[in-house]
Amino acid sequence: MRVLRRGDTGPAVAEVRSTLGALGFAAATQPAEVAEIFDAQLEHAVRGFQQRRGLITDGIVGPATYRAMRDATYSLGGRPLAFMVSAPLSGDDVQTLQERLLELGYDAGRSNGVFGAQTEAALRNFQRDYGLTVDGICGPKTVRALHQLSPRARGGRPVLLREQERVRKSGPRLRGKRIVIDPGHGGADTGLSIAGIDEAELMWDLATRLEGKMVATGMEALLSRGKDQCPDEADRAHFANDAGADLVLSLHTDGNRSPLAQGVAAFHFGTGNGATSTIGEAMAGLIQRELVMRTGMRDCKAHPKSWDLLRLTRCPAVRIEIGYLTNDEDRRRLTEPAFRDVVAEGILVAVKRLYLLGQNDQPTGTFTFADVLAHELAKAE
Ligand SMILES: [Zn+2]
Repeated sequence: MRVLRRGDTGPAVAEVRSTLGALGFAAATQPAEVAEIFDAQLEHAVRGFQQRRGLITDGIVGPATYRAMRDATYSLGGRPLAFMVSAPLSGDDVQTLQERLLELGYDAGRSNGVFGAQTEAALRNFQRDYGLTVDGICGPKTVRALHQLSPRARGGRPVLLREQERVRKSGPRLRGKRIVIDPGHGGADTGLSIAGIDEAELMWDLATRLEGKMVATGMEALLSRGKDQCPDEADRAHFANDAGADLVLSLHTDGNRSPLAQGVAAFHFGTGNGATSTIGEAMAGLIQRELVMRTGMRDCKAHPKSWDLLRLTRCPAVRIEIGYLTNDEDRRRLTEPAFRDVVAEGILVAVKRLYLLGQNDQPTGTFTFADVLAHELAKAE
């Protein structure tokens, strides 16, 4: 492969010109003898292309620019995509696929435009969840499914249908449901540490209280870490995926430079462009309402975020930030075991409400742990 620069001539120059022309960077029609000359106009087009692609804008066509030009000619659906172990496919189509999978909550790895093992695994998970043939090949049917779920096609909101279906099919009972409780930080990472109070320690205590209540109702509650461990967010997500969790609840407290900031907030997966986990959003809203009602804490609302734990988990995940450790009142309340019990009960009731799908008209804040137990123990309808 010859490096081409201004002043060079020949058919290879004409090919660069026509490729860039097709990509919208140069005048496509030129008499043959002009097309084969690397002139100032072509150099300008090369620079424009390099700039768009984040390459060094030197106007010289070397290996990186050649590869980028080839990658740019592929768009999703133009060819079947699969994991080729010896010579992985690369191209803009692969990058589009990776971005779409990530938007939908599948861990396709970094969207680098190279179809690797992780892209294949994410694609297979998507195919399985959406009832497609699970072959790890991105062909016409998979492309159609991906387009149907795109934020644009759904008016700014891809409905994660399978997620909702799973909740509906799994029924109102908590028994048998598998919840991963994720106490934030841990081990050497204490999280926020204010006036001798550590976030990691508080959240560990809250997590074990919640675990106890969940197990009592027949749920399978798993903790994402040991008491003295601090796995990173991605490891916590993978743990939940491997466990086949129905739901992940991550527990944190917040902090702020201003000691006046206080309250409770919940976060679910969502990207800026409108892709949202609808179950995650519903769960975050239910938890938020129960906790605000039961504790009287300030309502800092529920928000979409694309943090690793929320993005990489395949099931709905919610991160709750319970109070500001930097706020005297919030901190004082968090240190009371009875308060942490109230919070644990509120979270449990919110989970129960999620699976009841609105079939319970008991006002927010009044449904008790005893009610949940009674409902669980009542004869199956
Ligand atoms: Zn934290």
